Amino acid sequence: MSPPGRSYGRGPDELRPVTIEPGFVRTATGSALISMGETRVICTASVQNSVPRWMAGSGRGWVTAEYGMLPASTGDRKQRDISKGRLDGRSVEIQRLIGRSLRGVIDFTAVGERSIYIDCDVLQADGGTRCASITGGLVALRLACERLLADGTLERSPFVGTVAAVSCGMVDGVPLLDLDYSEDSAAEVDANVVMTGDGGLVEVQATAERTPLSRAHLDDLLALAARGIERLRAAQDEAVAASVS
Ligand code: UDP
Repeated sequence: MSPPGRSYGRGPDELRPVTIEPGFVRTATGSALISMGETRVICTASVQNSVPRWMAGSGRGWVTAEYGMLPASTGDRKQRDISKGRLDGRSVEIQRLIGRSLRGVIDFTAVGERSIYIDCDVLQADGGTRCASITGGLVALRLACERLLADGTLERSPFVGTVAAVSCGMVDGVPLLDLDYSEDSAAEVDANVVMTGDGGLVEVQATAERTPLSRAHLDDLLALAARGIERLRAAQDEAVAASVS
């Protein structure tokens, strides 16, 4: 039975409606617009034929990510970092998470001395923007690599796996999958889980703000996340297949 008031009338173990639109930004090498309910993030992958100086001569490539929320993505206008003159600490934390997650499934020797920038811009924020950025960012990265393979720039696919992320948490003592903002702000425990397509954990961030989390509930949350990530992986595969077919 659905807990009262869950968006889209969903049960505790259900994701918000997910859509991934491939090729949303025509000028990017790879791109996707991901929507998880009201949360929407534009993810692009842009390729540069150089690597950071400390990697030059290694024959290996690099993948890095940037994250930002557009001013109107939240109810109160969010000032752009550039207008404040400094990068928000939250943005730094999130973009490092996105970069680490995506690098975890890439063989850099197959990329060659190139950098791939994954830019995640939040159009609309309703919770789970970092997870949507990872899930959509992977699609943008896959599409960019498909293009580089098709034009002969890459000889083989650099992917050693796939990755996706989802939030989950304890709200009123109940483990819930994919929290929207109203649930996130009421959660006793808020977790972000990054997993590979074959169920390997890449990163788990779980914060107990009010009540400490029991080991049993951590297991419940990870099981919920695994279910959600299985569905997200299917959505990623469909988006890539729709774009390359
Ligand atoms: N949020 C906001 N303004 C901010 C930061 C967050 O309105 O400056 C809202 C937004 O809806 C976001 C949610 O709070 O999705 C949860 O933020 P959190 O930092 O937990 O990151 P997220 O869940 O988006 O990855």
